[in-house]
Amino acid sequence: MQHIRNLILVLGDQLDLEAAAFDGFDTELDAVWMAEAHEESTHVWSSKQRITLFLSAMRHFAKALRDSGRQLHYHQLDDSSSVAALDSLGAKLQLDLTSLKPQRVVMTAPGDWRVFQQLKDAVEVAGLKLEVCEDRHFFTTVRDFASHASGRKSLRLEYFYRELRQRYNILMEDGKPAGGQWNFDADNRVAFGPQGPGLVPARTTFEPDALTQEVIALVNSRFANHPGTLDSFAWPVTRSQALEALQRFIDERLPLFGRYEDALWPGQPWLYHSHLSSAMNLKLLSAHEVVQSVEAAYRAGHAPLQSAEGFIRQILGWREYVRGIYWTQMPSYVELNALDAKEELPVWFWTGQTDMACLRDAITQTLEHGYAHHIQRLMVTGLYALLLGVRPQQVHAWYLSVYVDAVEWVELPNTLGMSQYGDGGLMASKPYVATGKYIQRMGGPCKGCRYDAALREGEKACPYTTLYWDFLMRHETLLAKNARMGLQVKNVARMTDSQKQAVTLRADAIRRGEVGAAQ
Ligand code: FAD
Ligand code: SF4
Repeated sequence: MQHIRNLILVLGDQLDLEAAAFDGFDTELDAVWMAEAHEESTHVWSSKQRITLFLSAMRHFAKALRDSGRQLHYHQLDDSSSVAALDSLGAKLQLDLTSLKPQRVVMTAPGDWRVFQQLKDAVEVAGLKLEVCEDRHFFTTVRDFASHASGRKSLRLEYFYRELRQRYNILMEDGKPAGGQWNFDADNRVAFGPQGPGLVPARTTFEPDALTQEVIALVNSRFANHPGTLDSFAWPVTRSQALEALQRFIDERLPLFGRYEDALWPGQPWLYHSHLSSAMNLKLLSAHEVVQSVEAAYRAGHAPLQSAEGFIRQILGWREYVRGIYWTQMPSYVELNALDAKEELPVWFWTGQTDMACLRDAITQTLEHGYAHHIQRLMVTGLYALLLGVRPQQVHAWYLSVYVDAVEWVELPNTLGMSQYGDGGLMASKPYVATGKYIQRMGGPCKGCRYDAALREGEKACPYTTLYWDFLMRHETLLAKNARMGLQVKNVARMTDSQKQAVTLRADAIRRGEVGAAQ
């Protein structure tokens, strides 16, 4: 058997036939290696939706590779081989390298520090060095981010984002930002009126084909006790489906995306969001093509600037920014706990069985679809965990488990940094804290809830509102040093001792689980 020249490793979130690792690929000399590893679904308690999405998209990509004539070594979870019996990607690769004996092992930069270490180690054991190509999917490199960050005391999205708008000439006119402003944040916070959102365009769905059905059956039997359900599985799992989802978003949702970006409504998971994060994170779509299509829709007069800018900021701004944070701060980042939070995540985060209507809504749809939009993640589930004082590592494990778009490079900084303030302000200028009235104002289901968002104390007090004041009291000294928290902290000083005591008593009852779980 002729030995392989280049063995290209492809992970489940690298499903791009044009990735840099394929540059110069020779079908006579080179081969591709992919593996489904049990550990990838169990190192956190991965939801059925998330496992299915990854496995189905990988198997479809394997078919695309074979169709393009590339030699592929692929291990399915349900193979009977000795390699399939090994738990981790690293162990599988190590064993395969002993028989495949490639001259070089090449891959595109991965999205998970832990997996990267495993693969590097396995290649080293074989006496080779893992060659890593830049991921062209992103606008920036980690080096770009590091040089932007160097010498800055704190990192803020806004400056990074403006630099990128200029460098890539996106939404720019004569060297100035289109519309004369860098951002339209203030126009992106409109709530639906009392009548609600009315008719929202239907979610773009993709009927599971035979291959996806096979994966669904495998996941339902092998991961039967994992969270969530698969009845509604309809995510794009191929490049052509992802392109269709992008086009449908632009045609149907983008015009109102900006206006209702932060809005909530009970029983409405999809609203005007794009639902493209999983397709982008698997690399079925490139960030460049998504941004270009959205800018083109604005230039063609199809979408207002507030929508195009709001959307592009999420991708060119936040998405690139969190990736930079992850790769410049790991591995110590995952251990940070600046607020010394020690509580356990309530068990009903895994079932949705809570009597708080907003949390029940967000968690139930998360388990059903593997999806929640940003404000639900940040200001419903994330806010509750932050106010309760849950250990950020537990919150991180939950977010990494339940969402179809969860890959550590993007999930961890959003959870530990932005949502839980675990990095003490590296990522966000202040903790995102609010009372239940914020949720109510943005359209949360407070009317149908047994609690009252306006109440801080007593049996009907909204747990968010109680815990918000408790949070300010517990962290008063630290927060007083933050200029952006000054006003909020001053309000604590206006409380009487008995008010403070009532808040503490109720917050303790919430922490003991006497409030919040469904009866
Ligand atoms: P849209 O609202 O349509 O936004 C458009 C795109 O912008 C998204 O598809 C996504 O690619 C990008 N984007 C938006 N916000 C962010 C952000 N804060 N960081 C990075 N990219 C962003 N996003 C993930 O892709 N994976 C995660 O695991 C993830 N975990 C999160 C955990 C927490 C606690 C929070 C607060 C946010 C998290 N996000 C994560 C960011 C964001 O919530 C999701 O990208 C978004 O909800 C996905 O839905 P969508 O595609 O409909 O997004
Ligand atoms: Fe959520 Fe509080 Fe509103 Fe109930 S009252 S839905 S717990 S914010």
